[in-house]
Amino acid sequence: MADLKIVVAGAGGRMGAANIRAVSALAGVALHGAVDRAGAEAIGKDAGSFAGIEPLGIAITDDMQAALAGADAVIDFTIPTASVELARQTSARGMIHIIGTTGCSPDQDRAFAEAANAGGRIVKSGNFSMGVTLLANLVRKAATALSAYDIEILEMHHNKKVDAPSGTALLLGEAAAKGRNIALADHSVRVRDGHTGAREPGSIGFATLRGGTVVGEHSVIFAGPSERIELVHRAEDRAIFANGATRAALWARDQKAGLYGMDEVLGLTD
Ligand code: NAP
Repeated sequence: MADLKIVVAGAGGRMGAANIRAVSALAGVALHGAVDRAGAEAIGKDAGSFAGIEPLGIAITDDMQAALAGADAVIDFTIPTASVELARQTSARGMIHIIGTTGCSPDQDRAFAEAANAGGRIVKSGNFSMGVTLLANLVRKAATALSAYDIEILEMHHNKKVDAPSGTALLLGEAAAKGRNIALADHSVRVRDGHTGAREPGSIGFATLRGGTVVGEHSVIFAGPSERIELVHRAEDRAIFANGATRAALWARDQKAGLYGMDEVLGLTD
């Protein structure tokens, strides 16, 4: 079978560089194009050199239409407005669209569902690593088993991250809520400050730390009477997300139009 031709969107970003390296290194895929926003520093540079590997002869462009022509898939770790616009274009072309962008609003998430209904093959996840996808499954099971324990989710990321709580913290919160059969939106406590009163029973709390170059750390704490269980994931290299995103693109090749998650890619749905 021919290599899957992939365009990396947000090529000038931290994840963009990791995605260029992953697509260049893994079997069964080939880098077809690399795109960033008009005026970005990376425009015109060779994608490989920019990502710290050998030159690939593909210049990073701001011309999305030209980059998409002839491509099979897009790996997109950008910003929510850019991902929504791109989803319209990929669904119109029936392309595979891997969305790693976090911080999307409910309206923006609805736009992805609409794009999938209109023919897009979308895989979207707040975390494309195998470790976190498995962790989310464990969290769901623990939340069911430890039904009376308080659940708190703590995350830390580098000092350039712009959204909070992280997409991964929310993904883990959704997994915990699913295990409890409740809606996260109705039970999450995203901020605590001042005289908050006692903890609301059944709520799912979030706490956010930012600093340095931390790639991503998440702890889900189940606090009960006289004991605490902590499920922890520490990301050490962005390659774990990029490898997962590339794997998701290859998996989507055999799927019908629709909106999928990483647990489906890894066969962890039950
Ligand atoms: P980043 O370094 O800021 O990269 C984002 C890139 O997207 C930048 O190069 C930015 O360009 C570019 N961009 C902005 N608008 C664009 C447009 N219209 N078209 C094309 N490119 C555009 O951020 P990052 O650390 O790589 O993270 C990117 C996203 O991925 C964030 O939402 C982050 O939370 C998420 N993330 C997800 C996972 C996961 O597994 N799901 C893992 C890590 C990170 P300028 O900088 O020039 O504006």
